[in-house]
Amino acid sequence: MSIKNKIINFIFEIQETNPELNRARYKALSKQIPLMYAIVMINIITMAYIHFEYAPYYMTIALPIILTPITILRSILLIKSDIDALDNDAIRSRLRTINYLAVIIGGMCIVWSISLFEYGNAYTQGYVAFFMCLTSIGVITCLMHLQQAAMIIAAIVAIPGSIFFGISDQPIYNAIAIDILLAVGIIVFIMFRYSVDFTRLIENQQKMEKQTRLMEILNAKNEQLANLDSLTTLPNRRCFFYELNDILQTHITTKEPFVVGMLDLDGFKQINDLFGHAVGDQILLDTSIRLRQLLDDNVLIARLGGDEFGIIIPHPGSEQDIIDFGNTICRALKRPFKMNGMKKGTIKISCTVGFASFPSAGETASLLFERADYALCYSKQNSKGSAVMFSNEHETLIREVSTIAHHLKEANLNKELSVVFQPIIDTNTERTICLESLARWDNPTLGRTPPDIFIKSAEQSGMINQLTSILFTKTLQAVARWPKHINVSFNLSTFDLCSQAAIIDIINILEHSNVPAERIIFEVTETAVMENFDRALEGINMLRDLGCKIALDDFGTGFSSLSYIQHLPIERLKIDRSFTLNIETCSATRNILRTIADLCYNLKLEGIVEGVETKQQLDILTDLGLNIIQGYYFSKPLPEEGVLKFLEDEKARAEASDSTLANSIPDSEETDYALSKVQH
Ligand code: C2E
Ligand code: CA
Ligand code: CA
Repeated sequence: MSIKNKIINFIFEIQETNPELNRARYKALSKQIPLMYAIVMINIITMAYIHFEYAPYYMTIALPIILTPITILRSILLIKSDIDALDNDAIRSRLRTINYLAVIIGGMCIVWSISLFEYGNAYTQGYVAFFMCLTSIGVITCLMHLQQAAMIIAAIVAIPGSIFFGISDQPIYNAIAIDILLAVGIIVFIMFRYSVDFTRLIENQQKMEKQTRLMEILNAKNEQLANLDSLTTLPNRRCFFYELNDILQTHITTKEPFVVGMLDLDGFKQINDLFGHAVGDQILLDTSIRLRQLLDDNVLIARLGGDEFGIIIPHPGSEQDIIDFGNTICRALKRPFKMNGMKKGTIKISCTVGFASFPSAGETASLLFERADYALCYSKQNSKGSAVMFSNEHETLIREVSTIAHHLKEANLNKELSVVFQPIIDTNTERTICLESLARWDNPTLGRTPPDIFIKSAEQSGMINQLTSILFTKTLQAVARWPKHINVSFNLSTFDLCSQAAIIDIINILEHSNVPAERIIFEVTETAVMENFDRALEGINMLRDLGCKIALDDFGTGFSSLSYIQHLPIERLKIDRSFTLNIETCSATRNILRTIADLCYNLKLEGIVEGVETKQQLDILTDLGLNIIQGYYFSKPLPEEGVLKFLEDEKARAEASDSTLANSIPDSEETDYALSKVQH
């Protein structure tokens, strides 16, 4: 770059190192320059007026005529300009323009005022000196934010003016020249000091803004972390309850209905255990995507944790609409999930949904949530894979369970609890191989409560271990009196299986009885094992170490992953009664039973079919190769004293049939008839 260009650059160019500082300068100037123009124009017009009668016409009015429209237009432009919308280059260009205009207008003014000086009298000349001095001070002050422009005015107005008056032979003008120089010098000095402070101020402001922006980003991030689930980016549990409380506040006075839903994936835990957490995470993520596609903006869906999702529907429509909506969700999640990197490529899962409606199901957040959860659990047990709305019927059930819990606590359980036994028969030999011990509770106030109900209540109230101890003790006392080849099946609750203390208690009772461990089969349900696999396995192994056997109860009602079964240390599979119910009418059920029979054969498991009530059911099962049967067809559960009689009768029948067999081959129908006669 040539020296000339360097000088031009130095005078006019605006540095780009700090665009924000340039912007701040321009902002300040855009307010000050119109004011400056006003001062300049008033002074110019006054000068023109004073010299009107002395100087030539063209000299006095030329400058005001040229400058008035220019300064007005420039002022309007500066006042109206939207500085925030200008980019950095535009700001620099406008600052540069101010520098150029300082040269042009400043130059015009100095030439004009010096050329007017020779006209008029001593007064008008004095006014010219006054005009130069004050106008340049005013203009430099107004241009303080742009040093270059201020210095241009100093250089082309103040200094030539001072020189002009300095070389005059009138001492008063020499004095004015000194005044101008001094005043401008002081202003320039102040301007440089001010400029440093201004730059610092702007830099500090920039830092503050940066920090504020950073804080805002951090706050937004924190807010996000606090309210969003990191895996699915759905709102999280905290956000769900916040929104629930919020909607409650707005609906509490109007009583306008809204619905709270709970969604739980069926068998998710097993998928996690079988295929690993990466697959589990992928399913949760895909689930969230499908849910998002189904819901409109009004509906909130949150991941509450694990495989549990919460729903809030602010404008629910009819109850049937909600159930339909829940079932749509269930259907959407039943579609296979594509898994990258997995051999088979897809995984099938289902979900269950429970809803509770405000205000009918409850008027507090916790009650609504609890009841939606109850509806979910109810659906899981009775209609897995579909949606259920909390109803009055559920409310009655809840009340019953809590009444039962109350009476259980007050009861003399040792006296009121008893056990009955239901025979399990090998149809090959037509003999009882085992009896299942089933709990009974006769309470003076409640009468006889079904075992599944009081067992559940005991589980919920934390009393189940105590009940199990009493029932197991009574069971072993009865078993001790049975023939040595007859075994007993005893039901364990999840809470027994997963509690080390309860297992130790059971082992203690067994060791203090006269019954060898080999005669005991503990029945554990599939859900009990699946819910807490590691602890359940620990309990199972402790019992097996003693010599006891394990049966998987209610097989087929939970998540029946056949590949999972082979990892369980079990000897028996108890096929749930629901299969027997429609075995005569449903060929699909028969096919499933055939598969289960094959599975039992391959895994060397004893398959026991529960709930056999008719001869037809028995025949079909025998054809399928399932020979170990429990059900009303052979016997209902028997009281303790009935067991020995049953076994004796059975033995007598067998002996009688043996002797008949010695004489003739019996008709199989007759044998069946004989067996059916033992029903109670
Ligand atoms: P479970 O273990 O599946 O017991 C079999 C249930 O099926 C028994 O009901 C039995 O009476 C019934 N049952 C057997 N054969 C037939 C049949 O042919 N038709 C029909 N309709 N039902 C049949 P129960 O005694 O009412 O027991 C119900 C449930 O209560 C049991 O189901 C078990 O889950 C639980 N339970 C019973 N006793 C105990 C116990 O001592 N401890 C634990 N933890 N649970 C128990
Ligand atoms: Ca059982
Ligand atoms: Ca069962």
